[in-house]
Order: sequence, then C-alpha cells, then structure tokens
Amino acid sequence: MRLILLGPPGAGKGTQAQRLCAERSLVHLSTGDLLRAAIAARSRLGREADEYVSAGNLAPDRLVSALVAERLGSLPRGAGFLLDGFPRNLAQAADLDAMPRGTGIQHVVHLVLDDEEIVRRLTGRGRADDREDVVRHRLAVYARETAPLVESYRSRGLLRAVDARGTVDQVAERIGRVLGACNEEAKA
Ligand code: AMP
Repeated sequence: MRLILLGPPGAGKGTQAQRLCAERSLVHLSTGDLLRAAIAARSRLGREADEYVSAGNLAPDRLVSALVAERLGSLPRGAGFLLDGFPRNLAQAADLDAMPRGTGIQHVVHLVLDDEEIVRRLTGRGRADDREDVVRHRLAVYARETAPLVESYRSRGLLRAVDARGTVDQVAERIGRVLGACNEEAKA
C-alpha cells in the first residue's frame, strides 16, 4: 500500500503514521523526522534546514524532495510506504509525481482538526518549534502552502478525510475504516 498522510501540525500524523506502518508493514517516511535527525547530526543538510525548521517555515523544496527521492529509491521494489509530512506544497507534489516510486499513491489520508484544538495540543508537547507563536506561524504556513493539496488530491479521487478529534485509538479506528472501505471498493 502506498499512502500519504496529510494534515495540519498537531493533528497526530506522527503517532498515527507509526501505528499504521506497524500494523500494515509499511515503511514510514517522515520528512520532519529526517530533517530533525539531520539537524541533530549537524550534517550539511541539517545546517541548511535548521533556520527554516526552527522558525516554522518550510525547508527548501529541493532539499526535501531530494531527501524523499533518495529514500524512496532505496526501498525494495514493491515495498509499501507511508509519506508523513510530504508533500507539503504543490511543487513537492509535482516532484513526487515525477519520482519513479512516487506514482501509484492509492490513498491520501487527510486528518482534519480545527486550529484551536491544534494550538491546545501542540503547546503542551515541548518540541523546540512548538512555542505558541511558532505554532500559529506553522498553521498559517499550512493554510497557505499545504491546504491546496487537499483540493488537488480530492480532484484526483485520492482524498480520504478522517476526523482527528478524540483519542489515538479512536482516530486509528477511523483511519482503518476508511482504508478498509476503499479496499472493499477496489475489490468490488
Ligand atoms: P513535521 O514533523 O511534519 O511537523 O515537520 C516539522 C518541520 O519540518 C516543519 O515545520 C518544516 O519546517 C519541516 N518540514 C517537514 N516536512 C517538510 C516538507 N515536506 N517540506 C518542507 N519542510 C518540511
């Protein structure tokens, strides 16, 4: 299965991604995790990405798309994967479409959560880019850059909206249901 997990910061993408990947044996590819690891390791990529990530801005498309292309290219043929946090804008979506392994995305799971709930959740998390002003900025970046992907994937028939309120278990259950329903449709 090839999936994209889309949603605003704080909607629970990372948590749900880990669960889904464990349950369905998918490779979890989180650009946020990859960038944070590069920053911690002070690699060239990390040093370049640091200022963007700390300020809650998107790292440059060429950096992130190259990172994803490299990871996808190294997967065994036919391996299932889940993209968590990528693509983040229309340019990255076009980059993904141009990658040999980037075609054939079956579902774009869209976690839906309103801004106030997001700020409430994130400001309790303790990550460096989770200060309230940075969170609000990341939400604005999401609305401007990432939200247009929702319409784009909807028009391609790939979007599966999931209510991200409630507990981790409840949300996981909803995701399981939409993916299950889609598989049934595909079989029918
Ligand atoms: P996340 O872990 O997905 O919330 O991402 C944390 C931060 O990493 C974002 O606020 C961006 O600064 C950066 N980042 C993650 N994914 C991307 C991406 N696909 N494109 C650009 N920047 C990204």
